[in-house]
Amino acid sequence: MKITVFGSGYVGLVTGACLADVGNQVMCMDVDQSKIDKLQQGIIPIYEPGLEEMVKDNMLAGRLHFTSDVKTAVDFGLFQFVAVGTPPDEDGSADLKYVLAVAKSIAEHMTDYKIIVDKSTVPVGTADKVKQAVLEVLAQRGEAQEFDVVSNPEFLKEGSALDDFMKPDRIIIGTDNPRTAELLKALYAPFNRSRERVIIMDIRSAELTKYAANAMLATKISFMNELANLAERLGADIEHVRHGIGSDSRIGYSFIYPGCGYGGSCFPKDVKALERTAKEMGYHAELLTAVENVNDRQKHRLFEKISAHYPDGVAGKTFALWGLAFKPNTDDMREAPSRVLIEALIAAGATVRVYDPEAMHEARRIYGDKAGLVYCEMQPDTLRDADALVIVTEWKQFRSPDFEQLSRQLNDKVIFDGRNMYEPKLVKQAGLQYLAIGR
Ligand code: NAD
Repeated sequence: MKITVFGSGYVGLVTGACLADVGNQVMCMDVDQSKIDKLQQGIIPIYEPGLEEMVKDNMLAGRLHFTSDVKTAVDFGLFQFVAVGTPPDEDGSADLKYVLAVAKSIAEHMTDYKIIVDKSTVPVGTADKVKQAVLEVLAQRGEAQEFDVVSNPEFLKEGSALDDFMKPDRIIIGTDNPRTAELLKALYAPFNRSRERVIIMDIRSAELTKYAANAMLATKISFMNELANLAERLGADIEHVRHGIGSDSRIGYSFIYPGCGYGGSCFPKDVKALERTAKEMGYHAELLTAVENVNDRQKHRLFEKISAHYPDGVAGKTFALWGLAFKPNTDDMREAPSRVLIEALIAAGATVRVYDPEAMHEARRIYGDKAGLVYCEMQPDTLRDADALVIVTEWKQFRSPDFEQLSRQLNDKVIFDGRNMYEPKLVKQAGLQYLAIGR
């Protein structure tokens, strides 16, 4: 089949590569010329495990193509996937300008039937707006082309995106047209072999399903963080509590890790957007407001702990900071808790020596030559002259450090752990103080 994908970011590039990998012809389009130039040379602008190989293999096999030319893109595919960003607007609602720009581009150039498949996370009612935008442009052109708009939200996780796309938990198809549903089912058949994963529903329910999933996951995290803060005050250990409740099959172990708050491009913006949608409908979504507030507060917990540990302030102190990405296995620092901490420490007069296995280039892009921030190419470099260590992202390579050596190197012999990575006894045996979340 022939597919066009608008937007070559985390979602668009993975979608394009995976659809090409099962034998389709795919054209990825992006307005960012530098991104397209790099991709055409086989350089992948983001870090996602396995993506580089998959993109290169499929380019070599002649199935995956890149363009910044709208007409080339629109002419190419029967399926026109929309995978552009939907960042939060000033009021928290999802900004649809990129999605609607793509809709208009498609309408300006289409000369035959197209299926517009929306993969971006968009508020309920967006498919209607896309349809309207296309109809308006077609009317201006004096054309009456047939088209369909489908909601097909994406659930991949950065860091395991290829696996998630290839073996999805579910494939949501929101459409009112049974013929379009069949065409999409056929497109997704290679990812739907071992069991039925396709769930067909009306467009509005499909749009809401994506927000519901992210809001539920964010709620789990904020719930655990709320309890972690309570556990600290009660002298309990949230890690024991986590095991205790996870063993209940109605609760389960997944996604109940306490920490220094959720970040990334999705949870924060999607919770806000859903809250905003509720408001527009005249409904106060109290739980969503609380989920967001708890998370905002939690992102300051590490700095609060550090400040409490240094009653005379952190001015002149040096902190080794491990982990910048909002979670392991990605270079994405959008809304990352590391940013809140770095900015607070530097504003308070501290020096921060940072290391992340994949996000160093992203940190440099965001902070440039910021005074007080030292980029370390190797993890051990962070410890030079460091007074304390702070862990913000739970990368695998941080799991088992040499505590004896850390104890010798850290002037103040203290670790602040925003991800509860270590067994407190082990850390303390090495003569280190260990200040984690909820324990
Ligand atoms: P991204 O910022 O990584 O990529 C978006 C891309 O779209 C950019 O490269 C940008 O240049 C391009 N773009 C903007 N306007 C364009 C246009 N008119 N034509 C073509 N390209 C255009 O964003 P992302 O993380 O891939 O997210 C895309 C959407 O998918 C968002 O709605 C997001 O909420 C949703 N989503 C993201 C994830 C994730 O983990 N990142 C997961 C599921 C869903």
